[in-house]
Amino acid sequence: MNKHFELVIDGKGEAGAEACFDVINPATAEVVAQCPCGSTEQLDQAVAAAKQAFVSWRRSSDAERRALLHRIADDIESRCDELARLIVEEQGKPLALAESEVMGGVAWTRYNAELDIPVEVVEETSDKRIELHRKPLGVVASITPWNWPFMIAVWHIMPALRTGNTVVSKPSEFTPLSTLRLVEIINLHVPPGVINIVTGAAAIGAAITEHSFINKIIFTGSTQTGQHIMRGAAGNLKRLTLELGGNDAGIVLPDTHPAQVCEDIFQAAFLNMGQTCAALKRLYVHESQYQDFCERLTRIAEQQVVGNGLDEGVNFGPIQNARQFDKVAKLVEDAKQQGATVLCGGEAIKGAGYFYPPTIVANITDGTALVDEEQFGPVLPIIAYRDVNDAVARANASDSGLGGSVWSSDSDAAKEIASQLESGVSWVNCHAQIQPNTPFGGCKMSGFGVEFGLEGLLEYTSHHLLYVNK
Ligand code: NDP
Repeated sequence: MNKHFELVIDGKGEAGAEACFDVINPATAEVVAQCPCGSTEQLDQAVAAAKQAFVSWRRSSDAERRALLHRIADDIESRCDELARLIVEEQGKPLALAESEVMGGVAWTRYNAELDIPVEVVEETSDKRIELHRKPLGVVASITPWNWPFMIAVWHIMPALRTGNTVVSKPSEFTPLSTLRLVEIINLHVPPGVINIVTGAAAIGAAITEHSFINKIIFTGSTQTGQHIMRGAAGNLKRLTLELGGNDAGIVLPDTHPAQVCEDIFQAAFLNMGQTCAALKRLYVHESQYQDFCERLTRIAEQQVVGNGLDEGVNFGPIQNARQFDKVAKLVEDAKQQGATVLCGGEAIKGAGYFYPPTIVANITDGTALVDEEQFGPVLPIIAYRDVNDAVARANASDSGLGGSVWSSDSDAAKEIASQLESGVSWVNCHAQIQPNTPFGGCKMSGFGVEFGLEGLLEYTSHHLLYVNK
């Protein structure tokens, strides 16, 4: 596999002006590749190129942009194997999941290609016509995290291009490689300057937030960084879409059949080793079924095959980085100190790599950091409740508001409870389900704005009203 990576600025590959940094494989703690490290001057050049390219890209026809996105999707698809292996090496997830990340990127790209950008006739009379148009914003900066590096970059970049914006991408320093390849691919199809990438440390992110020629930032990551971005963006009133993770609760109603839902609950909680913004992060189970759910979920956890995502049969990878690994381990230690029971896992796996087994924690309740904070890792606390209204109140007693779910054999009753959750999305008998055609985003400290669907696409545009007196 080619392990040479370059920045892309104004259509050209470029070395970073700063010393390269190592990208670490979380399964082996070895270096995967050297990543170029851009300077803030290179960021300025990338933004200037994007600003210049915007002048003609915004005038490209709808049909042209559609066709380009489909060609990019074809190209990504044809390189699925190479991209998926790169994702495994830098991110850690099992190969099958990495393949679905790439193919998800293809599906999202094609969906964006096919979306129509509406022109709304607000009023039409004999003497007047009022039309509402959508115009691109200009230079869009995409700042992405390390959990789904490729897919989230696609989510950010494709709607921006589809609506006629130009882009500067800044991936996480933990997982920059698959995004560098993605941008390289896109750059083969679009005019110079339409897509740029500057990898580097947080200084690049900080410079993006304050850059006066950047018109919008789409960010996925922590609430704390989202707050930095919001402060920095005030200078030129950048548009923002902030997807800041959550602490999603799942509530299991007493009539639920455990055998029918436990596998789905496990997958929702441990998707991508729990490193998913909309994973199920705390599970509330009625006391009448508490024991049963704890036992079943523990059995499923014990069946996972933990290891290097490139190895045959492995379906559970490492935590992506040492910092997150420490955070998860500390949360579990704290829960133990508070008297919680670890039913399985609960100790780091010795050896190279950041391996932490799927961990189920019982006899724990709200007020413990593992329940109150986003663990963002392979640990699920299970909390007993007696009264469903109390469970809903506890689910809502969080600063986060990304998603939540209710599980029951009576989907109507569950829907009623689900509608009471303070979240951007509530699921019934599933969790963490997202798809290209449904707007997705959080409330409260989980951020604002949505991605996906027409609503998500239109976040990359501003209104332009044409009011014509005939
Ligand atoms: P961060 O929010 O720090 O990083 C996400 C992205 O923001 C990275 O590209 C990072 O760059 C960039 N960044 C960092 N500081 C700034 C800044 N001041 N201005 C602009 N961009 C900046 O997430 P972490 O990696 O530190 O993870 C911390 C926690 O965030 C996790 O424990 C988890 O709870 C949550 N998280 C949520 C995610 C989600 O999907 N919503 C994804 C990842 C994490 P660089 O890597 O170069 O520092």
